[in-house]
Amino acid sequence: MKIFNTETKRKEEFVPLEPGKVRMYVCGPTVYNFIHIGNARPMIVFDTARRYMEYKGYEVNYVSNFTDVDDKIIAKAIEEGVSAQEISERYIAECKKDMEGMNVKPATTHPLATQEIDGMIDMIQTLIDKGYAYNVDGTVYFRTRKFKDYGKLSHKNLDDLRAGNRSLLVTGEDQKEDPLDFVLWKPKKEGEPSWPSPWSDGRPGWHIECSVMSKKYLGEQIDIHAGGEDLIFPHHENEIAQSECCNGKIFSKYWMHNAFLNIDNRKMSKSLGNFFTVREISEKYDLQVLRFFMLSAHYRSPLNFSAELMESSKNALERIRNAVSNLEFLAKSAADGEMTAAEQEKAAELETYRQKFEEAMDDDFNTADAIAAIFELVKFANSNADGESTKAFVESLCGEILRLCDVMGIIAKEKEELLDTEIERLIEERQAARKAKNFARADEIRSELLEKGITLLDTREGVKWKRA
Ligand code: AMP
Ligand code: ZN
Repeated sequence: MKIFNTETKRKEEFVPLEPGKVRMYVCGPTVYNFIHIGNARPMIVFDTARRYMEYKGYEVNYVSNFTDVDDKIIAKAIEEGVSAQEISERYIAECKKDMEGMNVKPATTHPLATQEIDGMIDMIQTLIDKGYAYNVDGTVYFRTRKFKDYGKLSHKNLDDLRAGNRSLLVTGEDQKEDPLDFVLWKPKKEGEPSWPSPWSDGRPGWHIECSVMSKKYLGEQIDIHAGGEDLIFPHHENEIAQSECCNGKIFSKYWMHNAFLNIDNRKMSKSLGNFFTVREISEKYDLQVLRFFMLSAHYRSPLNFSAELMESSKNALERIRNAVSNLEFLAKSAADGEMTAAEQEKAAELETYRQKFEEAMDDDFNTADAIAAIFELVKFANSNADGESTKAFVESLCGEILRLCDVMGIIAKEKEELLDTEIERLIEERQAARKAKNFARADEIRSELLEKGITLLDTREGVKWKRA
């Protein structure tokens, strides 16, 4: 399996630090609003990379944070007259709903910056003790000049950057030793959330959060660090500086960055105001269509959002779903027993499509080609299964389509709609199981319903339910 490493600008063979295991960190969103579909791109593409590595047999420890302390969160809290915590908790919950809709698996751990302040203070202190950071009136800066590898990820010419930044220096920032020095800790302003520290009551800088959370949940060295390409500089460059100076080890072996999702060929972003939230898209489309759209391009190619492309993704997904439901229909009335000799020969051809799929994914997660391989498989299934086919043959075709779609996180089987009466019956069964202290069965029913899009609410007036 090859991965394009931003640091070396080459596709490299993936060799994990520990055989069979992958430690992966993906920078998560700042939670001050609903996520937009630009934010959804890294979620979907790196979730797909994770799923593929799991398919290949790796155990993936996947960590993705929520940045829950930030100027934008504070501004939104002031605007609404509520606490910053209320804002971040609200949008984390909303983000998780969107992730579920897009079939993005929850991370192994979703750390929150505000829960990791002690670790940040420790790392900053170590950096000060080692001479990599300095405190000026309660603000702690990282001394970039001291880290000889600074700039290795972004391949930037630092002298040019310094010269450029110097002329842009604003008052208050000139207490820095070097224009490229960045903040590790800053004193609070009136009304802002803050934590005590040896330097001032204040809060951490953004970059230190990820260095600390990655170290705590994955260790000092990780296999893959990922995020959108806007994070290469300064965020990831600064994370490398902090982590490598603190731990004395190479931080991440591979750096992966997705290209932007654009609209009218400009980056979709909150600040430009040219965005759609995932929630808005979900009102018009099944979010599986959004996922399909994202995966129809390579993650390192810019992708332009348009209604036409969404429509063609919808049609393409429908073609796969139609093939699956057709095969399921055939399977119901097909003859039991072994495949015929001719069918066995055909079934052996399935291997070719799987190989094509794997070759594409092994080549730096080329999801566009992987989807093309799935379409070839669908075409093959459509033209080889009919009313005469055995159940075993039809099921092997259908199983293969579902398996490959599942690796992409694409749900190719339409959810069966449960009738209201069926839901009521299951709820009654769950109540009875609980009464009999059979909690395992009760939980099983709850998850069975959840899988079919039904959420149960245990209220004082009894159990209520709603469809997702
Ligand atoms: P933010 O909340 O801005 O820190 O962004 C969270 C993640 O979304 C980061 O990995 C960003 O690089 C990524 N991101 C933001 N906007 C876009 C976009 N238009 N296209 C692709 N990725 C984006
Ligand atoms: Zn980060």
